[in-house]
Amino acid sequence: MKVSYVKGLKCRECGRHYPKEALYVCEYCFGSLEVDYDYARIKKKLTRKELTSRPQNLWRYRELLPLDKAPTDGMGSGFTPLIKADNLARELGVRELYIKDDSVNHPTLSFKDRVVAVALSKAKEFGFDTVACASTGNLGNSVSAQAAKANLERYIFIPADLEMGKVIGSLIYAPNLIAVEGNYDEVNRLCAEIAFRYKWAFVNINIRPYYAEGSKTYAYEIAEQFGWRAPDHIVVPSAGGSLITKVWKGLNELYKIGLIDDKPRTKVYCAQAEGCAPIVTAIKENSEVIKPVKPQTIAKSLAIGNPADGYYAVNTVQTSGGWGEEADNEEIVEGMKLLARTEGIFTETAGGVTVAVTKKLIAQGRIPRDESIVIAITGNGLKTQEAISEHIGRFTKIKPTLASFEKKVKARRR
Ligand SMILES: *Cc1c(COP(=O)(O)O)cnc(C)c1O
Ligand SMILES: [Zn+2]
Repeated sequence: MKVSYVKGLKCRECGRHYPKEALYVCEYCFGSLEVDYDYARIKKKLTRKELTSRPQNLWRYRELLPLDKAPTDGMGSGFTPLIKADNLARELGVRELYIKDDSVNHPTLSFKDRVVAVALSKAKEFGFDTVACASTGNLGNSVSAQAAKANLERYIFIPADLEMGKVIGSLIYAPNLIAVEGNYDEVNRLCAEIAFRYKWAFVNINIRPYYAEGSKTYAYEIAEQFGWRAPDHIVVPSAGGSLITKVWKGLNELYKIGLIDDKPRTKVYCAQAEGCAPIVTAIKENSEVIKPVKPQTIAKSLAIGNPADGYYAVNTVQTSGGWGEEADNEEIVEGMKLLARTEGIFTETAGGVTVAVTKKLIAQGRIPRDESIVIAITGNGLKTQEAISEHIGRFTKIKPTLASFEKKVKARRR
């Protein structure tokens, strides 16, 4: 079956064209490469009617994804709920608020299941039998799980200080898990060297142009679930800066192929943790230059001090008219608790960052109170329990008798 609408790869800086191969940097200007589509053909094929007749997973947008053959992985990924968050809206004093909830994505409870679904399908097209990644946790979980299902050999490289939930969440799928004594940026540098020497598909290095396209589906779904409209505001957590860039690209593609009628006027906001906010710092300084930092935050999944797509993330925020803010550790914990208490959603530290930043942007008047707002919840709280275990309520312990119940529980409530 021929499904490809992909023309090739194209340099994001100088525009030079490259063939569909496992390439990621332009050899002339060292710009990063991006997938180039035939939008005119996609526009003819991908109508609303056609789309909505398809299964509810991320492959319903397959013409906008970089495969040449039929997809093979992630058949349960994507199409996560867009929840109307009325309780949280009341708390924050806004009219129309939604949560795009990838904390329940399949199979490993984070938005990374999207990018890995695309990366593994593409790696198999290229003929790789081994996949690998440099990960802050969630990517490792998803590559471990989806490569197990795909019968691929798998190598996961993580910083040695990750949360237990993230470590176990990879190990259960029996990967080769390598904990590097260093931060993510050191892990990533090592992986670039390994990728150069071994013939492995590093999903976020040599397969990166294809992998990154998976993030667009997060935006496609928001627009579809929103009734084929783009919301006024989206707040997105950033690590390497890929998701936020692709959310904006995705909305604009939908307009380009006629799936949404109005040109997106969505303002895109970047959420980072105070101890690791190189993108937000550049936004605030109105600079295009990202100054790398040494990460220091409980939001470990966002702890990338030298973001590969930082420049494009800043550009996205500036072009869309958004802004950036940061949240400290205390605000992150409060953000996690606020979302759980109001909407019944247990997110990880990255989600705490996003909720806290949204609250700040509203309080600052950057996000108006009477327009539609989407908060990007990208990961699950069960994986980062260390962050909140000391900051939540305690259970009441009783004997298995009615007397004990009435003494310890009811009495206290009276
Ligand atoms: C990886 C990750 C992000 C950010 O992704 P980038 O595309 O690298 O900016 C956000 N939230 C969670 C939970 C993640 O794991
Ligand atoms: Zn170039």
